[in-house]
Amino acid sequence: MAEETPVITQYLGIKKQHPNDVLFFRLGDFYEMFNEDALEVSRLLNLTLTHKGDNPMCGIPYHSAKGYIARLLRMGKKVAVAEQVGEVAKRGLTERKVVEVVTPGTAVESEYLDGGSNNFLASIFISGGFAGLAYIDVTTGEFRATKFPEYKFAENVSKELGRCSPKEIILPESLKNNKEIQTILETISVASVSWYPDWHFNAEKNYEHLVKQFKVANLNSFSLTKESPEVPPAGFLLDYIEKTTNAPVSHISGISVYQDSQFVIIDDSSRRNLEITFNLRDGTSSYTLLESVSNTKTAMGSRLLRSWLSFPLTNENEINSRQNHVELFVKDRNLLHCVRENLDGILDVERLAGRIAMDRAHAKDLQALKASLKFWLKSQAVLERYDFSMPEKDSAQKIIDLIENSIAEDPATVFTEGRIIKDGWSEELDYWKKVRNDFNGILEEYIESEKEKTGIQNLKIKSTGNLGYFIEVTKGKLDKIPPHFIMRRTLLNAERYTTEKLQELENSLNESGAKILELEHNLFIEVRNELKKYIPYLQQAAKKIAYVDVVCSFAESAILYNWNRPHVLSDSLEFSVKNGRHPVVERHLPAGEFVPNDVSLCGSEPENSASFALITGPNMAGKSTFLRQNALIALLAQTGSFVPADEANIGIVDRIFCRVGASDNLARGESTFLVEMTETARILRSATQNSLVIMDEVGRGTSTEDGLSIAWAVSEYLLNTLKCKTFFATHYHELTRLEHKSLKRLCMAVAENGSDIVFLRKVVEGSSENSYGIHVARLAGIPESVIERAGKILEKIQGDASVIIPETETEEVSKNKVEIFSGSLFSEEELVLDEILSCDIDNMTPMVALQNILRWKKSLAEK
Ligand code: ADP
Ligand code: MG
Repeated sequence: MAEETPVITQYLGIKKQHPNDVLFFRLGDFYEMFNEDALEVSRLLNLTLTHKGDNPMCGIPYHSAKGYIARLLRMGKKVAVAEQVGEVAKRGLTERKVVEVVTPGTAVESEYLDGGSNNFLASIFISGGFAGLAYIDVTTGEFRATKFPEYKFAENVSKELGRCSPKEIILPESLKNNKEIQTILETISVASVSWYPDWHFNAEKNYEHLVKQFKVANLNSFSLTKESPEVPPAGFLLDYIEKTTNAPVSHISGISVYQDSQFVIIDDSSRRNLEITFNLRDGTSSYTLLESVSNTKTAMGSRLLRSWLSFPLTNENEINSRQNHVELFVKDRNLLHCVRENLDGILDVERLAGRIAMDRAHAKDLQALKASLKFWLKSQAVLERYDFSMPEKDSAQKIIDLIENSIAEDPATVFTEGRIIKDGWSEELDYWKKVRNDFNGILEEYIESEKEKTGIQNLKIKSTGNLGYFIEVTKGKLDKIPPHFIMRRTLLNAERYTTEKLQELENSLNESGAKILELEHNLFIEVRNELKKYIPYLQQAAKKIAYVDVVCSFAESAILYNWNRPHVLSDSLEFSVKNGRHPVVERHLPAGEFVPNDVSLCGSEPENSASFALITGPNMAGKSTFLRQNALIALLAQTGSFVPADEANIGIVDRIFCRVGASDNLARGESTFLVEMTETARILRSATQNSLVIMDEVGRGTSTEDGLSIAWAVSEYLLNTLKCKTFFATHYHELTRLEHKSLKRLCMAVAENGSDIVFLRKVVEGSSENSYGIHVARLAGIPESVIERAGKILEKIQGDASVIIPETETEEVSKNKVEIFSGSLFSEEELVLDEILSCDIDNMTPMVALQNILRWKKSLAEK
């Protein structure tokens, strides 16, 4: 009880410096939380809440802390870890200090991370009319930044954040009242957002920080100046990482500053609609393009693949060089097999390098690094003959040798076990290990030397609990006792002696445990520091491993799914695909069931010169699938992959837009027509002739007349002004009356068989005349009576073109409509007869039947 107050006082003092973090406060073998932290965390993690005095408290055993921290990080919490530092006080208060703050965007332990994706921390700052955005993955050292004009803030911030999906964002307080950023933060799912005073984003200070970190005189080689808008957020990220992790970050050795034009621009909503890395349904990667092309073997490869899909290229040479490598592996399957087998053995070298830099790697990590590099050297050897511009092999071999010689084969992860350093690495350590493990052997050697010196052949070393070790001399030999023997005790037949040497040996036995620990620790740190020299090499090798892994993965996909190399051309607008398929839909259908389709826009022959494809066809016929498959083929082609088609000619596109009509987008809960129009406006403002535009049922979110008119006018603008490649799917058949030389009419083929129809999923030239909605309604299981009734109504309406039925209707309108129907279209007898014929007797209770008869009688009588 006496110690209670000082501990809590100490706790409160530390907590004051970390008001926004959960404070893990080390008390013996536990991390304890107090007060509001205890209340919150006990609820979040389902821990038992206790009390220390008046303070609510909960705790977790220190050795299982990582699991709890991982869970808190996923909930967006930051955890400050306060350890006992210095000697543990026997009396009074042990000193405690926060040694690190673990946050969702700065965590480095593998327990907190997903191997297949980067763990980005992002920051944004506006200065001089530009917004700078930077993001960093401290586990790998990847550091990127870009900028855009302030007036395009919202669109670009959501696009870039969509690309990198950061786990944590740190922002200046001046943005707190910015409505646009608020909206963006609501739509993206980021674990943690925090605000910092604007002075953290000082240009001068952050510029100096970056210069110092990258060990350069200025940032010219990174295309940055003191005025660059990327500098404040980038510098602040570094600052933040250093303060939270409290570790050296030498592996962050540069920043890649990129511009929009280097990559295909895909705005955030198009990215979502194309389901590239996340699906619309539950935000996971199932049923996405990423999933359908993922055949990578290493964590580095799967991160790079994700990044390639987010940053498709616009440079023909770069695309071709990737394709050449993919083709190499497609053609030489033995090579592919051999390389992939070796990749299988490679662990996350990139993150291991980061952990070495940050003093977090333990001995098992080093062994993993060694094993990985061995596999990598094998791959490198077989790839030597091809133009992969491989990193030098010397460093890898030196690293392997160093670890091989210094680190035990199956080492412990913690120092307390003393199984870290290999025998033979350090004479001193070996001596102490021998003292501990083979003390009898040492005594043996010693007593042999004494026998020789004294000539007493039966000297023996024995030990007892209270005397410790001693030399026993039998009575007959006492005359030979040398002066350095120190008498301890006399027995009946013998005398017991000790010597200085023997006492020394005994002391060293007692010290050996601590000595081993200390030496192992120091030797290990030495080895790890030695390895820091190789971090640039390891980062370079990791990049190459990732590259080889992704091109092998593309080759594997090409072979497995029968994909082919597209021709990408920078000076062409053409988009032609033969037997194209949707990579995701095809995979989830039984083999052979997916119907491939051709298309050709902006080709050189007159019949293919159209830029705009208008696709009509009933619901469920396959329009949306066809549209998206073309966008995905273009995207895949520009990442360097082969594509799901027999042949493809792709003029390089600069932007891909994918707009889906509001009512098709209900899953995201933003069915408002305004959103649909905002995004359509963006396309009309920013598409160029080199863009690929997908418009799926645009205009759907409003009434028929409105929607049709808007769709019509938008089409005309795309045809006349933008002239970009466009796939426009619509259920407004009226649109097919649009006439233009650049317009191509396509429709989904349907086979009619009496009243039944079959969707052939085949795209053919022409327009669809029928929406077959009633057929789809039947497929969906609408009761037969309703279907028949709908068929009758349709006949009537089609007979009388003057009847227009609004699509969205208020109650008022629908009441009128019933009147129109019952008044002008059908007679009362017809209605009753119709109802009798279509009523479902099997599913009707006697009571309802009687009520119906009563109603019919009434209505006939009224007439
Ligand atoms: P629409 O947009 O015309 O309403 P969708 O493109 O949504 O139609 O397609 C409906 C369903 O038809 C898809 O979920 C898919 O299962 C199937 N489908 C679409 N295209 C094809 C195809 N080419 N081959 C086989 N099945 C297809
Ligand atoms: Mg559709």
